[in-house]
Amino acid sequence: MTAAESRCSGVCYAFSMTARILDGTKIRDEIFAELKEEVSRLAAQGLRPGLAAVLVGENPASQLYVKSKIAACQQLGLASWLHTPPATVSTEWMLQLVRDLNNDDQVDGILIQLPLPSQVDAKRVLEAVSPAKDVDGFHPVSMGMLVSNRPGLVACTPAGCMEILRRNGIAIEGANAVVLGRSDIVGKPMALLLLHANATVTVCHSKSRDLPEIIRRADILVAAIGRAGFVQADWIKTATASRPGAAVIDVGTNRVTDAAEARRLLANFPARLERFEAKGNVLVGDVHPDAVNTAGALTPVPGGVGPMTITMLMSNTVKAARLRRAVASTNEGKSQPAGSAR
Ligand code: NAP
Repeated sequence: MTAAESRCSGVCYAFSMTARILDGTKIRDEIFAELKEEVSRLAAQGLRPGLAAVLVGENPASQLYVKSKIAACQQLGLASWLHTPPATVSTEWMLQLVRDLNNDDQVDGILIQLPLPSQVDAKRVLEAVSPAKDVDGFHPVSMGMLVSNRPGLVACTPAGCMEILRRNGIAIEGANAVVLGRSDIVGKPMALLLLHANATVTVCHSKSRDLPEIIRRADILVAAIGRAGFVQADWIKTATASRPGAAVIDVGTNRVTDAAEARRLLANFPARLERFEAKGNVLVGDVHPDAVNTAGALTPVPGGVGPMTITMLMSNTVKAARLRRAVASTNEGKSQPAGSAR
């Protein structure tokens, strides 16, 4: 025990120089195990939740994402269908496909992989998806349900961040939470989930002033801006005898290819720098990697929030099946906390 720890009474926090790592892969495995059980229970009732994915054109990154989503369905025993219209598809054709999927009783979730080609009106297509099958949680009805804290389908990445916080026992109620970024798919739903879980939430964006000062007050920081290593390690609240250091959820996934930038970000991580030299690129979050020496807890990049997005897509598909087909949940009877993402 350190001198500082021996002085404190009640709950003490160690002045560890290394953040607790919030491992998204481990939580994905836990949730997958729970979902597998639920899928078996639904199968016993003759129900098989199903996800229809729509992949337009041949964007290699989109192909990879959709492939992983279909593979996750197969791993969990969910039905899946892949529709691959050509890059020349029209808005009308896409709207007809969405109508068909809305009317198909076997389909519980519809996933339109973004981006869509420029001639397609993406907003019209996304808004045509039935809110009951909106497993991405992007539909205005889903957003409205979230604003009013009613059960519904919540955007996967912020829902995954909540699972990381909850399953690691990070106190949310009463905490000062700062959300950096205000996009419709991450920042805004994240802020609402934290608010419903009784955090005091500050949302920051590119016009916010005094970011370091705002971030220094955060017990929980969610960074989602798409700027490699933007949040500096000394902006993050460190542990004292009476409170833990900040819990940092780093949503950013930035591929760094510039050698000078990689050297600046990874100066204290020689093994990662060596891998960069060999591969020519490295994935870095929105938080500087040195934050591992100041934060109380931290999601790694990769391996933190990343694995949670597909996990929550699977969770949403099972949830959509349960809600649409009015089946009782295995969690029925257990209370769901306010702001629950599931
Ligand atoms: P986005 O739509 O581009 O939004 C970025 C947000 O960050 C905007 O609100 C913007 O402010 C704000 N911002 C940009 N520069 C800033 C600065 N210098 N200071 C303060 N705020 C700034 O991005 P997104 O879709 O939310 O994604 C954010 C990051 O998360 C990206 O790295 C993305 O790759 C990653 N992501 C990861 C996952 C995953 O599964 N791990 C999923 C989704 C996204 P304004 O509103 O003022 O422009």
